[in-house]
Amino acid sequence: MKDNIMKNYGRLDITLEKGIGSKVFDTEGKEYIDFVSGIAVNCLGHSHPAILKAINEQSEKLIHISNLYWNEPQLKLAKKLVDNSDHKEAFFCNSGTEAVETALKIARKFGKNKKGKNKNEILYMENSFHGRSLGALAVTGQKKYQTPFMPLMEGVNSVKFNDIDDLKSKINGNTCGVIIEPIQGEGGIEKVDKEFLKKLRVLCNEYNALLIFDEVQCGIGRLGKLFAYESLEVIPDVICMAKGLGGGFPIGAVLTNKKASVLKKGDHGCTFGGNPLASQVSLAVLKELIDGRVIKKVKDKENYIVGKLKKLKDKYEVIKEIKGEGLLLGIKLNDKPQKLLNKTLDNGLLLVGAGKNVIRIVPPLNVKKEDIDKGLDILEKSIKVIY
Ligand SMILES: *Cc1c(COP(=O)(O)O)cnc(C)c1O
Repeated sequence: MKDNIMKNYGRLDITLEKGIGSKVFDTEGKEYIDFVSGIAVNCLGHSHPAILKAINEQSEKLIHISNLYWNEPQLKLAKKLVDNSDHKEAFFCNSGTEAVETALKIARKFGKNKKGKNKNEILYMENSFHGRSLGALAVTGQKKYQTPFMPLMEGVNSVKFNDIDDLKSKINGNTCGVIIEPIQGEGGIEKVDKEFLKKLRVLCNEYNALLIFDEVQCGIGRLGKLFAYESLEVIPDVICMAKGLGGGFPIGAVLTNKKASVLKKGDHGCTFGGNPLASQVSLAVLKELIDGRVIKKVKDKENYIVGKLKKLKDKYEVIKEIKGEGLLLGIKLNDKPQKLLNKTLDNGLLLVGAGKNVIRIVPPLNVKKEDIDKGLDILEKSIKVIY
């Protein structure tokens, strides 16, 4: 049966069947502590009652109607996002890639509105990750993803991450937008430099370009605030979200301020976007994260985990650095991570790599202390055997 699936993923050879909280179980009944969360998606863990309730109740009413009509869950979800941000309007889609595509189109339209100019260039950062579609790939600064699919979309240029001089030499009157991840997730948990970001905001204003934050991985509570930008003292014009937004149910979104409110009737669309079921689930997730005070406790969990990881770093030479923020953490090794990832899997802990030699720690945001302890014990046990 596995032959019937395209070969574009390097999967680990286990089949997962069910999960509860921060634990999942494979078809043989073996338990794993889940520090992957479906790649920073299951922010409330598995089988969370609020998510199950939203799916059950909404699916009995309406699942899908298209955007030819209004639906209340979509309106409520947009209001929740707007009420909790500095932004004004939301667009809904189904994934991070679609959110990024939408943001790129918003930047192009914004540029087109400035008459008499060739304002269509989008800047992106080296080592970034924004998705796999041809548009998102064009602004993903990693050759290994881009090269097999050349030629990509034109009118883009890359900037060295955190390099103000390089940014100054690339941004100009033809720039319509700049896209950046506040923490590069897939690229290896690389944090943006706050001074670089402040300067980027100033330059975007100076050259009248939209500043786009791709918060698909670092947003929705991961850094200890609902939006990543809230911990960075810089407000973007456009925010891309997905992953944690539906707690496991597929949904993506773009939030814009007044300046970036440029899409007119017919400019863009998404058949499934903002369907009642996805919207109602996302609304339940946000209520739990915000009103249920899950996000409030993220910093405490970060401190607890980082404290323990630092002790491991002192003990084992293979650990070079503890990276990241909130519950988007990374362990930089002086080795390729695959050996350790295989060993932790054997021992009952799910982890995923990032960049060349980083292991990501992205547990559910409501992960319990006992599961943190159990997971980190398995990690240490695995390091001990190999190194
Ligand atoms: C995962 C990710 C994407 C792509 O999201 P999909 O839902 O896989 O399309 C885009 N940007 C960032 C920062 C991501 O981490």
